[in-house]
Amino acid sequence: MRAALARALDRALEGRRLDREDGYALIRAGEAELPAVLEAARTLRDRGKGRVVTFSKKIFLPLTNLCRDYCGYCTFRRDPGEPGAHTMPVEEVLALCQAGARVGCKEALFSLGDKPEALFPDYRAWLRRQGLRTTLEYLRAVAARVVEATPLLPHLNPGLMSARDLAALKEVSVSMGLMLESASARPLAPGGPPDRAPDKVPARRLRTLEEAGRLRIPFTTGILIGIGETPEERVDALLAIREVHARWGHIQEVIVQNFRAKPTIPMREHPEPGLDDLQRTIATARLLLGPAMNLQAPPNLSPASYPALLGAGLNDWGGVSPLTIDHINPEAPWPALVALARATARAGGVLRERLAIYPEFIGRDGFLATPLRAKVAGYVDAEGLVRPELAQWREAGLDGAADPELAPVGAPPRSQKEGEGGDS
Ligand code: SF4
Repeated sequence: MRAALARALDRALEGRRLDREDGYALIRAGEAELPAVLEAARTLRDRGKGRVVTFSKKIFLPLTNLCRDYCGYCTFRRDPGEPGAHTMPVEEVLALCQAGARVGCKEALFSLGDKPEALFPDYRAWLRRQGLRTTLEYLRAVAARVVEATPLLPHLNPGLMSARDLAALKEVSVSMGLMLESASARPLAPGGPPDRAPDKVPARRLRTLEEAGRLRIPFTTGILIGIGETPEERVDALLAIREVHARWGHIQEVIVQNFRAKPTIPMREHPEPGLDDLQRTIATARLLLGPAMNLQAPPNLSPASYPALLGAGLNDWGGVSPLTIDHINPEAPWPALVALARATARAGGVLRERLAIYPEFIGRDGFLATPLRAKVAGYVDAEGLVRPELAQWREAGLDGAADPELAPVGAPPRSQKEGEGGDS
């Protein structure tokens, strides 16, 4: 093993903060070195998170798929008039939220295109007829209705946000997110000219992360790998996230998302990152970000690889929906929760449902708007995770009820439940 890598692993296991050179040594790990990197990442994950691996039961609400950007890897965006172009009216959002609540969802994930009003006059006129100027104002109005009229908790993922936008949206959500994607402007909008994706300028995205920290907003971010960045640029992006988190302590989750080629995108011929590359990057993220960070990789983008992802040090599977597709990756179905639970159990872990706000942030001063506190408190146990009796992921059809290895932490033993005459 190279001396630089051995040094990085030693320092990580001693609980020391890794520097950029350590990160580069980790991300350059060769085939023979990778098992040691993965083992160190698992050790750190277990130190910080124990056996618990989490997910959030959600519905996915693509509030509008109009977008002013043209990213070469995107299959989500539409221009007005294009087949599939759609902006959801509030009634449609509320009906979907109510349907989601009936099957046990707690998170209303709003994911949408970035600032379509800047590019499309007809859409701008539509907003004006609602008495609004921006898509983010519309998002705020709709999320407020979700909070008032449904049991769901909004998580907002609407692209770049100013400090004023963030402050307004904090009042109607439990958390927000913006993928940093990359800290380098070089792979900007791969497959298209850079000026076609003004919202993907890394400095602007980092500014949103910074403002979210200043405003004490539980925030999800992450990197997108395989879009033309170098391995070292992945490390730079992870360190940029670590820096902003060190200043404000607000990053609740970091996602390592792998690019997937799709036949309809400009980057359809672009190679996808291999599983070893994804594992190496997840493990590097764990070792750079430390045992306390929540680390996720989307399971529906690596459907046959749950053990490999767990073996690289993640502790969260992200949002999973029993009702709505992944509109960003519509070809990739969500995993069955029981499959995630079994894979987690085989790796020595226990699957638990969390809310869109991570437990660490629920009781922290100033991180949750007052009107949302009672609703959040009604869902969680002393650990800040969804109370087992409300965690309906083992309902009929998910087939996990008969499997004792899947009993949630804190749940009564199976024999006791049978005596009570039912399962949750
Ligand atoms: S990835 Fe996001 S910002 Fe880029 S085109 Fe798609 S919706 Fe727009």
